[in-house]
Amino acid sequence: MINRRHLLLASGAILIAAPAAAREAGKPATAAQRWGLLIDTGKCGAECTICVEACKAEMGLAGHDRPRTDAQYIRKVNVKDPATGAGHSVPVMCQHCAKPACVDVCPTGASMKRADGIVLVDRHICIGCRYCMMACPYKARSFAHEEQTGQQPHLPRGKGTVEGCTLCVHRIDEGRLPACAEACAAKAKGAMLFGDLNDPKSEIAQRVAREATTRIRADLGLEPAMRYQGI
Ligand code: SF4
Repeated sequence: MINRRHLLLASGAILIAAPAAAREAGKPATAAQRWGLLIDTGKCGAECTICVEACKAEMGLAGHDRPRTDAQYIRKVNVKDPATGAGHSVPVMCQHCAKPACVDVCPTGASMKRADGIVLVDRHICIGCRYCMMACPYKARSFAHEEQTGQQPHLPRGKGTVEGCTLCVHRIDEGRLPACAEACAAKAKGAMLFGDLNDPKSEIAQRVAREATTRIRADLGLEPAMRYQGI
């Protein structure tokens, strides 16, 4: 378990920042942290789906051979600039918005934002109305159409409820990295840097401060915690 700020050396020279500390049992999350990812699309290959596969394994998303509706918390979107022909592969998941549209429209409070900015769905409260799916401009949420099998203890799932990326909150609270970022560092090119955007000493905050980054559809004003480079 990680109990202090440090860097993990993985896959040769790739460095990924780890969370500062595990959250103490019984202590609530606080606004002192703002967890996010910085994704360098220049390191993200169009054919690489390591982050997607890691997410599926971590969350027990087996699928039902219905690609259009099967739950997928992270997906690779391959885009091309029509003017230049330049292509980019962009991992897209819940953006953990500071002003989440999903939370605004949820009639029951099932869609909620933790104090540290992580946006979650409480499936015990979700009534499956799917307003959040319509409100989310990032297509970040899925609907469970079938009975769920092979569930992971950290992710209760239920037929007729909405689900989405939790930023691996169960891992973050233990001082670990999200599964996608960990797998990308270990098996691909380390395109995902995870950390605390509120901590000026963190690698992610320092890179965001000194390098050009963008947020997808920043014009919508939802203030996502996911930042991208190279697009
Ligand atoms: S990306 Fe969509 S689901 Fe995630 S917090 Fe933003 S509005 Fe909500």
